[in-house]
Order: sequence, then structure tokens, then C-alpha cells
Amino acid sequence: PKYFSFGKSTINILHTKLRHNCILNYDLYRRNIIESPNCICGQKEDVYHFFFVCKNYVNARNNLFELPVLNRLEETILINSRLLLWGSDNLSYYTNCFIFSAVQTGRFNN
Ligand SMILES: [Zn+2]
Repeated sequence: PKYFSFGKSTINILHTKLRHNCILNYDLYRRNIIESPNCICGQKEDVYHFFFVCKNYVNARNNLFELPVLNRLEETILINSRLLLWGSDNLSYYTNCFIFSAVQTGRFNN
């Protein structure tokens, strides 16, 4: 989809790497690139951990989920890792761009 190219290129590349499982420790571990799948907090660092669990990023997570676009969406659609990384065919281009913007500014800037 066109919204995959949304955002500043450096941050968009990060978003794309997350989407394709090639940046977090769990992903690198599965490819025998590093020796531990764990985050610096000690838990397995996968996408779910990155977005919803890691105690080191509570503020970033709160910033992300308090953004109006995600707040409003929460009433109509399940907000999960898949939505944050891939968007949804059931949402408009603009809503997908808002989601991508929220992820890129709310979560990646921390
Ligand atoms: Zn962690």
C-alpha cells in the first residue's frame, strides 16, 4: 500500500525493518546473527514486547497510545502489533497514515 512509504525516510526505514522482522533482538537471534533474543530489560525482544510490554519504554508507549487517532480507533478496531506495522485494508489511506504517524512519532522517537 501507498502508506508504507509514509513519513521521514529514516524513520520509515525503521518501521519497515520492524514490519519485516529484521531489527529486534529476537529476529536477529532467530537468524543466528546475535546470541541472545533478549531486550536490555531481560525479556524476549519481539514486536509485541517492543510495542506493548517493555518497561524501559513506558513513557513512549503512553505517548503513543494517548494520541487521539489511536484513542478513537480503540473503540472500533483491535490495536495490535499487526495494525501498528501493516495498517489495515479496512481503514482509509488517511487513517492508515495517521496510525503510521502515531507509531513513528510516538514510539520511535524515544
Ligand atoms: Zn524490554
